[in-house]
Amino acid sequence: MTARAEPTGLHERLTALAERQIAAGEMLGVAAADPVNAPMIRHWTDALGDANPIYTDPEAAAAGVHGQIVAPPAMIQVWTMPGVNRDRRQTGTPVDAVLAMLDGNGYTGVVATNCEQTYHRYLRLGESPVPATRFTGLAGPKRTALGEGYFVTWNVTWYVAGEAVAEMLFRVLKFKPRERAKEPEENGSAAVKDAPARRPYPLRPAVNADTAFFWEGAAQGELRIQKCADCGELRHPPGPVCPSCRSAARTYLTASGEGEVYSYVVHHNPPVPGLGTPFVVAVVELPEGVRIVGNVVDCAPSRVGIGMPVRLTYRQMDDELILPMWVPREA
Ligand code: ZN
Repeated sequence: MTARAEPTGLHERLTALAERQIAAGEMLGVAAADPVNAPMIRHWTDALGDANPIYTDPEAAAAGVHGQIVAPPAMIQVWTMPGVNRDRRQTGTPVDAVLAMLDGNGYTGVVATNCEQTYHRYLRLGESPVPATRFTGLAGPKRTALGEGYFVTWNVTWYVAGEAVAEMLFRVLKFKPRERAKEPEENGSAAVKDAPARRPYPLRPAVNADTAFFWEGAAQGELRIQKCADCGELRHPPGPVCPSCRSAARTYLTASGEGEVYSYVVHHNPPVPGLGTPFVVAVVELPEGVRIVGNVVDCAPSRVGIGMPVRLTYRQMDDELILPMWVPREA
């Protein structure tokens, strides 16, 4: 008998690892830190604006088909999220080794591409679901708009006392972020600049019948806010129907271009194709009455704060795309 040679190429090693992880089957995780409980259900339904009383009102729930309070099925992942203090409840899954090999070989970018959940029954107060993870697929390498990558798929089944109550298929693309041309960094905002080489900017907005007016406006230096042609209510982001009066008739107004930072994050990691880090993404409140998401540029991230006055600017991202952004409005 001869010893089997270890595969040497990355793709071969990945494929061999994927086969081993698929063969390993289902790996049981740690049970929910807290059993299904009313306070978490209330916070979640509050946050999502779900007013169905079978989730929160004991009397209404008792009169309903379940006869008791149940948890919204879409909450299933909430119960077994590891939380911020991951060390406390760390367990492995068969996916980890595959993701680690991809990370270690330059496939450091990640974007979730699929999440499909199936619910077998509602969870009741006091139940403690346990997740179990199966590694189910590796596909690649594929050329994508973000860069070369592998699609990694796994399935989670949640059990209560051995009974499967919900399942999830989850797929991510692990990709090699494209090399960015080195640009001089200055006051921390080199992230978003006119692209000198005019390569196509990879993160393109989806332009459709509802949003075309917005992007046509941006190309002409106008920040256009959708307005209901019947009741006059403004809405952003644009959509097909007025949430206030249900009218599909719409027009727009052109915003003054002033605003205030309502909230923001400074993005350090992971790398984002087409952008350097750190960069600031803000929710800007307009005096017209809507909020809009955009980058704050020409400003060190440490200077950005809630309430900071900003004014509109534009960046030419490539030959076709112009993005509205924000700069500090000095007093
Ligand atoms: Zn309306």
